[in-house]
Amino acid sequence: RSGGNGFAFFEVHMQDGVRDQLELARDLRAALEAGGAGLALHYQPKVAGDTARVLGVEALLRWQHPRRGAVSPGVLIPVAERFGIITALGDWVIDEACRQIADWRDQGLKLRVAINLSVQQLRQPEALLLRLEQALARHHLDATQLSCEITESVAMADAAATERVLQRLGELGVSLSIDDFGTGYSSLAYLRRLPVSQLKIDRSFIQDLETSADARAIVNAVIELAHALGLEVVAEGVETEGQADVLRAKRCDKLQGFLFARPMPAQELARWAMQSQS
Ligand code: C2E
Ligand code: CA
Ligand code: CA
Ligand code: CA
Repeated sequence: RSGGNGFAFFEVHMQDGVRDQLELARDLRAALEAGGAGLALHYQPKVAGDTARVLGVEALLRWQHPRRGAVSPGVLIPVAERFGIITALGDWVIDEACRQIADWRDQGLKLRVAINLSVQQLRQPEALLLRLEQALARHHLDATQLSCEITESVAMADAAATERVLQRLGELGVSLSIDDFGTGYSSLAYLRRLPVSQLKIDRSFIQDLETSADARAIVNAVIELAHALGLEVVAEGVETEGQADVLRAKRCDKLQGFLFARPMPAQELARWAMQSQS
């Protein structure tokens, strides 16, 4: 109002942001109370490096807000974490993923589904384990059909506590992957102790594969390290044939990215998987 007063402008703007977040939080609570109205999981295939067969899918959260349209998880997850809704939202994701695995099974489609876990879910291990057990039991699923992705920075933040939770998830039979690998600061000694079976190389390295010798060196080193430790490697965010060629040449086990398929609604994914399987 005073013209050129940057501070006042910023303050107004900031309040808008907070009001926005509060509104999203309120609407998200309402959506969860209504059994997940407007929420959905979309599924993105992880394909075999050598044959392009679908070996599993990652579940990614989508929210169609009643007035604002699509709200991306990049916005939604931080709001849910900040306003204490992430556990309820994470529980919804667990239930929905298990329901979907059972649904596909009944259609004759066997797919392992990976869900993303937030740091706050790991901080409440009893609640998390109970929810997983209940969801698996309700749909008569084998725990091996579900896997959990945990980002490297989360896994390394509180190493001792994380190790205990992951041990118990592992005992349940759920397989574990370290997401966004290469962006955190993993202690390799610690990594070796965790019951994880998969490393996902962060998209930023894949993006630079064709243009940066450093990125190629890092990707190469991660693949070798993973294989030496008996872990499987997935490259995320593969967008070009050139990137896929480099990754295949380096024997990357699985590839995921827009080159193969975008995240899609369950029905579409089923059609896609059956087509690519035949
Ligand atoms: P993420 O786990 O690293 O998931 C990969 C993200 O990259 C997804 O974005 C996916 O749509 C996108 N992606 C996949 N292939 C490509 C590609 O070839 N190129 C590009 N540019 N992007 C690609 P999305 O769905 O917006 O999710 C963003 C992040 O939100 C996820 O990153 C994950 O950390 C978080 N998230 C999503 N769903 C959930 C959930 O159910 N629970 C929790 N806690 N976090 C979730
Ligand atoms: Ca992920
Ligand atoms: Ca990732
Ligand atoms: Ca990422």
